Amino acid sequence: MIDETALATLLAATHGADAPLGQIGQSGQARVGGSVPPPIVQSSLFTFDSYQAFADRMSGKTSSPIYTRVQNPTVAAFEDLMAKAERGEAAIGFASGMAAISSTLLAYVKPGDRIACVEHVYPDTFRLMERLLRPFGVEVEYHPVSAFENDPELLAGVTIAYLESPSSNTFEVMNLPRVTEHAKRHGAVTMIDNSWAGTLFQRPLTLGVDIVLHSASKYISGHSDTVAGVVVSSHDHIARIRDLTVPLLGAKLAPFEAFLLTRGLRTLVARMRQHEATANLFVDRLSVLPQVRKIRSPGPNDVPGLTGRSGLMGVEFDDSVDIPAFCDALTHFKLGVSWGGFESLVMPARIGLAQAGEQNSMQKFGVSPNLVRLNLGLEEAEDLWADFATALAASQR
Ligand SMILES: *Cc1c(COP(=O)(O)O)cnc(C)c1O
Repeated sequence: MIDETALATLLAATHGADAPLGQIGQSGQARVGGSVPPPIVQSSLFTFDSYQAFADRMSGKTSSPIYTRVQNPTVAAFEDLMAKAERGEAAIGFASGMAAISSTLLAYVKPGDRIACVEHVYPDTFRLMERLLRPFGVEVEYHPVSAFENDPELLAGVTIAYLESPSSNTFEVMNLPRVTEHAKRHGAVTMIDNSWAGTLFQRPLTLGVDIVLHSASKYISGHSDTVAGVVVSSHDHIARIRDLTVPLLGAKLAPFEAFLLTRGLRTLVARMRQHEATANLFVDRLSVLPQVRKIRSPGPNDVPGLTGRSGLMGVEFDDSVDIPAFCDALTHFKLGVSWGGFESLVMPARIGLAQAGEQNSMQKFGVSPNLVRLNLGLEEAEDLWADFATALAASQR
C-alpha cells in the first residue's frame, strides 16, 4: 500500500514555484521558458557581483552557493525533495550510499565511542566498521534485532545505534518506535539505512529515528544508471554533517547525478506500486511451492510504520534445488549485485559467502547457502514468474 500523500508531496515540490526551483533562481539560473525539470547547473564555483556580496556570503550573512563541493543548486533541488519525501527538515546528497553512510558516521564518532550495530548490516557498512572505524579506536558491537527490541539496557553508554530494517540479506524487521525509545533514554543517536523501503514504505523519522540514510543508487534512481546516496534528518543533525564531513571528506553528489535522481523521484511512486504488486504475486505463489523453505519478504504492518512490500526479497530453497543450475536456467532474471532498477536480478547467498577479501557480514553472521535474493524489477509479473518457475523445475536434483 502506497501512502498517496507521498505522490502529492513530491509533485508539489517538483512543480512548485517556491522551494527547489526558487533556490535555482537564486544562483541566476532562472527557470527557462516553463521548463519542467530543474536545470543542470554544471559549475564548480559561483561568482559574486561585488566585494560586499562576496564578503557577506563568506561571513555567513547570506547563503547562496559558493562551490559545488558543498552546495550546488541542482543538488539542492534533489535534497529538498528528499527532505520532504522522508518527512525530514533537510538532506544532503552524496556521491554514493557508502559516502552518505561513512560521512554521517564520521561526523559523530571519536576514539573510545561505542557503536551498537545491527547484525546482517549491508556488507560494506560492516567492512567500514571493521576496517576503518575500529582501527581508529571506535568500539563496534553487533546485536540481533531481538536484543535491540527487548533489552532496554543494550544502548547504555552507546554513542550511535546503527540500524537497518529490513536488514540486508535476511530481511529481518525491527520495531523502530520501541528501539528509538530505548535509544532516547540513553542519549544514543539512531541512524537507519532505509534503502529497501525506497522512502515510501517506511518513514523512520516519524518513528523516532534521528537520521535516515539511503543508497540512492537503488529505488530512488530506479534505472541502474546512477551511484549516489543521501542523508535526511533535522536541521541540527544536517548542519553538523554539512559543516564537518561534507567539506572535509568531500564526497558530495554531482549535479548531473542529482538531476537523474530528481528524475527518478518523479516516477518513484508508480515504480514502487509496480514492484509491490509483483512482490505480492511472488509471495503468494512461492508460499505453496514445496521447494521453498522460507520467504524473506517483509510487508505492511509486520512492524509499526511499515506500509509496503518492496521488490527485494529472499527465498530459501530446500536441498532439492541445484542453485547454480537454477541461476543459469533463468532468462529474464540476470545475475548481479545491486537492485532497485527496471531489470530483475538474482544474487545467490553462496556467492556472497564465498566473496574474496576482508570478511563481510554474511560470512560473519552466517546466512543459509540455500538463500537467493530476488530483485523483482518492472517487467511483466507473469513473465517473471514463468521464468522463475521454469528455472526451478529445470534445477531439481
Ligand atoms: C547498495 C547499498 C548500500 C551502498 O550504497 P552505494 O550507493 O552502492 O554506495 C548501502 N546499503 C544498502 C542496504 C544497499 O543496498
